[in-house]
Amino acid sequence: RQSIRRFGTTALRAAAAEGSPYTLRVSTAQGSVNGLTEAIGNTPLIRLKRLSEETGCNVLGKAEFQNPGGSVKDRAALFVVEDAEKKGLLRPGGTVVEGTAGNTGIGLAHVCRSKGYKLVIYMPNTQSQGKIDLLRLLGAEVYPVPAVAFDNPQNYNHQARRHAESLDNAVWTNQFDNVANRQAHVETTGPEIWAQTGGKIDAFTCATGTGGTLAGTTRYLKQASDGRVKSFLADPPGSVLHSFIQSGGKLAERSGGSITEGIGQGRVTDNLQPDIDLLDGSLNISDEKTIEMVYRCLDEEGLYLGASSALNVVAAKEVAEKMGKGSTVVTILCDGAYRYADRLFSKTWLESKNLRSAIPKHLEKYIVL
Ligand code: PMP
Repeated sequence: RQSIRRFGTTALRAAAAEGSPYTLRVSTAQGSVNGLTEAIGNTPLIRLKRLSEETGCNVLGKAEFQNPGGSVKDRAALFVVEDAEKKGLLRPGGTVVEGTAGNTGIGLAHVCRSKGYKLVIYMPNTQSQGKIDLLRLLGAEVYPVPAVAFDNPQNYNHQARRHAESLDNAVWTNQFDNVANRQAHVETTGPEIWAQTGGKIDAFTCATGTGGTLAGTTRYLKQASDGRVKSFLADPPGSVLHSFIQSGGKLAERSGGSITEGIGQGRVTDNLQPDIDLLDGSLNISDEKTIEMVYRCLDEEGLYLGASSALNVVAAKEVAEKMGKGSTVVTILCDGAYRYADRLFSKTWLESKNLRSAIPKHLEKYIVL
């Protein structure tokens, strides 16, 4: 009984007041949230200690891997579904249809289960069985279809649209060009970062898939700071956006690729279009730097991050160096490494991508698969 009392909230508060050696904070928040959808967002903003020390800046990462579906895309999933509800396109018992192979599908699956909608997912059949299995066990109906280009009517996005059109009370959420995606970040990610830094933020940077996170967060931070906060796109190899920005608006053909998943783009989406001019610049981050940062974040910060998060952290470090000592730079930790571990920490995979030598000697101990 004594030990139960010792771990009660009152005892923890008292211990905290006495200067307990534990850094675990006692939550003073009252009450509970109503269902999974209200558990999305309000993620911690983590100061990356070693990188902050190294740069003499505050390098901060928004812990989006803490969302119920494990990624930043839970926010967009919730907003596109609630936008369809508000517009009367989706009524009780309805069906959500989306073309996605990744985190958006997982976010939608959680949101749809929680709200009682059916979910249908179309994806290119080049995606792993693991992703298909996960979506199916989260309750989605999954159609892997031939991986053909966007201008082919059989492309998975068009199939998703036609499927929704063929049903009554169904919506194609269309994450790339549905601006409810960006609005999620205007209304939640941006304000959270502004509040968590108390407005003491000098720059923001992140990569784009749909562009929702970058555009929405940038739009809010620029508004809140009267344009003072700078914003930079972080782009992987194979994406056209970095060269689009550097060339002042020339769209090149997409060529090459990257180890990162969920980011990189061949066009300017409707989510990005109106806000791309708000950006102060862009950075291209190599796969070598990204994979090294996956390992560094694990070793130095205890953070188990996917490749897009690691790319964002490299970008935040480079932006911090550009901004100068004492500056505060925020980025997005999009998801964890859980779904990618068999690649990111595998010797054979690293060798197949010519990235084995990008891992410094003292971090080789993490190549365990
Ligand atoms: N990282 C990962 C792992 C993702 O799945 C996505 C979404 N495709 C992003 C980053 C990019 O987010 P957004 O779609 O908001 O640009």
